[in-house]
Amino acid sequence: MRIVFIGPPGAGKGTQAEQLVRTYELAHLSTGDMLRAARDAKTEVGQEAEQYMSRGELVPDELIVRIISQRLQQPDCRKGYLLDGFPRTIAQAESLDATLAAGGTPLDVVLEIRVPEEELFRRLAGRGRADDQPEVIRQRLVAYREQTEPLLDYYGKQGLLTTVDGLGSVEEVFDRLKAALDELAR
Ligand code: AMP
Repeated sequence: MRIVFIGPPGAGKGTQAEQLVRTYELAHLSTGDMLRAARDAKTEVGQEAEQYMSRGELVPDELIVRIISQRLQQPDCRKGYLLDGFPRTIAQAESLDATLAAGGTPLDVVLEIRVPEEELFRRLAGRGRADDQPEVIRQRLVAYREQTEPLLDYYGKQGLLTTVDGLGSVEEVFDRLKAALDELAR
């Protein structure tokens, strides 16, 4: 299965992604994790990305598309993958569509975890990551609303979108995601 996983910061996407890739034996492609690793290793790409990440802004499309295109060519992606945190803009989605169409490997589903914004702010404020300062949190939510939410319509029109309620316990949300995927596989 080739899955895109979409949700705002604080929706519990990372936790759910880990369980999904284990259950369905998928490669886990988290662009946030890739960028944090590049930043910590102080690579050129990592240092450029950090300037945006520290402000809660998205890194430039061209940079992230380059990273993910290389990653998709790794052999472990053949068994299927979960894209976690990519695409985040329409330009990224169009680029991904073109790459996957060229390879004859289209997406199977786009899963959205939906959580109301007040709840997101509450959760993020309690988390304590470097980019979880109130002003940075606010900016990350703005980036989601303005740049990533349009993807819901984009993928909805392609008939690929499935939305799952992200309120409740980790187990409850996981059961909903699993039900949605199992429904597709039938
Ligand atoms: P995440 O852990 O997915 O919230 O990503 C952390 C940060 O990495 C984001 O706030 C962005 O600055 C950057 N980032 C991750 N994925 C992308 C992407 N697909 N496009 C642009 N920036 C990204």
